[in-house]
Amino acid sequence: MRGLLAFAALFVAVLGKKTFEGHQVLRIIPKDDAQLSLMKNLEDMNEFELDFWRGVTGVSMPVDVRVPIHNLESVKMYLEAQNTEYSVMIKDLQVLLDREQEEMKSAARASQHRNTDSFDYSSYHTLSEIYSFQDMLVAENPNLVSKIVIGQSYEGRPLNVLKFSTGGTNRPAIWIDNGIHSREWITQASGIWFAKKIVTDYGTDPTLTAILDNMDIFLEMVINPDGFYYTHTTNRLWRKTRKPNPGSSCIGVDLNRNWDADFGGPGASSYPCSITYSGPSAHSESEVKSIVDFVKSHGNIKAFLSVHSYSQLLLYPYGYTMTPAEDQAELDSLALKAVTDLASLYGTTYTYGSFFDALYQGSGTSIDWAYNQGIKYAYTLEQRDTGTYGFLLPANQIIPTATETWLALMAIMDHTYQNPY
Ligand SMILES: [Zn+2]
Repeated sequence: MRGLLAFAALFVAVLGKKTFEGHQVLRIIPKDDAQLSLMKNLEDMNEFELDFWRGVTGVSMPVDVRVPIHNLESVKMYLEAQNTEYSVMIKDLQVLLDREQEEMKSAARASQHRNTDSFDYSSYHTLSEIYSFQDMLVAENPNLVSKIVIGQSYEGRPLNVLKFSTGGTNRPAIWIDNGIHSREWITQASGIWFAKKIVTDYGTDPTLTAILDNMDIFLEMVINPDGFYYTHTTNRLWRKTRKPNPGSSCIGVDLNRNWDADFGGPGASSYPCSITYSGPSAHSESEVKSIVDFVKSHGNIKAFLSVHSYSQLLLYPYGYTMTPAEDQAELDSLALKAVTDLASLYGTTYTYGSFFDALYQGSGTSIDWAYNQGIKYAYTLEQRDTGTYGFLLPANQIIPTATETWLALMAIMDHTYQNPY
């Protein structure tokens, strides 16, 4: 068996694409503090090569982990020995991955992508398809959309931001980003849909038209292009960047732990092999530094909206402390409005609250940084689903997910427009 595994590893190295045959995603529910601390230990030590899809939060809160096939038996025995309750969420990950690949192939065969009207919004796309979508959208709407390259990724890819503007100079603006974690494919796909939605609705939807007549919208739909490229070519479940870490064989930094907001504090890891590795210092990663420089030099960003998946959550600062944000009451009531609007379409329910309360303690996150810069309306969204497919959300859910998410974003953008500060 060991020889076979070594052979399989070699095979992957040669072909270049990691397979997840027989990997399972388990949902574990720690039922008391003792089980909770066992789960936290597993997360920190990573002895079973577990990949946490949904991290350890609190007692009775689900923890989703991908378990490699060769550790499946040991992990289940370990959990059973501790009397910890678990269920199998995904029985064989590769089955879902194969289906996703098939869908992408047939979509690519069917579509032409010659303009943004014929673009296939109900499929997942590669990075180069997204780049060409951006260029098409700019070419088709030169008076409304422009492309700004705010920097370069570690591997030298452009960090593209679409600017939606009807004129003026340095108008108050809204920042939206997607794909800081590369495996959260629904977010980049939603970003494409958001961009098209903005140009479609301007001039027809009175709310969006009023917003864009007074404010600009900046949209970075792929924050982490190196990671995203890697999810297509090599490892579909890659979360971090692709920058090597000196002194370690592990690659990459968690870009949502790299911001100067209690950098390196609890809820981030200082181990390069961890999926929440914060990086060597705040803003050490060009993908983060480029946004920091852009937002600071703009100086008039009023809302900062960061889109992730999965779990169906709407979160506001803080993540690094349980101390309430100064604007907690307003952020909380706006969150309620946003999730209510979102649910009005298909009944998708979101939980909302501060990052710390509703998710877990996380330091160095983008919205905490933005909020501490004076950007009051700072939110993180975690899109569909709640774990049935996790990061492998079927493509037929892209448009419904993007559409409902847009209702929440619109609620926040409209509130930002109506409440200047
Ligand atoms: Zn994320």
